[in-house]
Amino acid sequence: MNGAQQTVIYEQAMDLRFLDEIYRIPGGEKIKDCIQCGTCSGSCPVSWAMEETPRQVFAMIRAGMRDKVLDSLTIWTCASCYQCAHRCPQEIKITDIMYMLKRMAIRENRQRSKKANALSRIFVELVNKNGRNHETTLMVRFMLAANPFGAVSAAPIGLSLYTHGRLPLFGRKVRDVQGLRKIVAKAQELGGE
Ligand code: SF4
Ligand code: SF4
Repeated sequence: MNGAQQTVIYEQAMDLRFLDEIYRIPGGEKIKDCIQCGTCSGSCPVSWAMEETPRQVFAMIRAGMRDKVLDSLTIWTCASCYQCAHRCPQEIKITDIMYMLKRMAIRENRQRSKKANALSRIFVELVNKNGRNHETTLMVRFMLAANPFGAVSAAPIGLSLYTHGRLPLFGRKVRDVQGLRKIVAKAQELGGE
């Protein structure tokens, strides 16, 4: 097999549409400049908990491994601290790309995105309603949405948090809820979600 044939087979194994999608993200085309130096992984405070390090995620993106990237727990482990983006010698917007990968996973209703999606949806609903989060409602609704059977076993934790004053029974509203709703609506419009 000559080199050209090998290249054709290699490109067929890659999901080139995935690369196109990533390159269309503002700043996404910079992934081509990744030199696999590992500075991002070395700077990341939670890389120890990741399935793949940020450096590996970028190698997987460049290899067109769509499912592996979008099903990776790494994108959900990322704490959005921007440390990696700040230190990347190629000025790749790593954190923004992680956000974009999360949004793609949510849009495709990937299994591992479901809990994060439920949490963010309930959080936004609460903020839209009262102008601020209410931890007790968030926790109860999230448990019921993500793991209804686990809600019963989590009850003692909830009770302990309540008795220590960490879970207030009643939420409070901000004064200008309408103004805040406009901000959330604008953010959703800009974010396309
Ligand atoms: S720090 Fe930047 S150039 Fe280095 S591996 Fe990470 S993304 Fe690639
Ligand atoms: S933004 Fe995410 S990937 Fe980058 S260093 Fe912070 S936690 Fe790690």
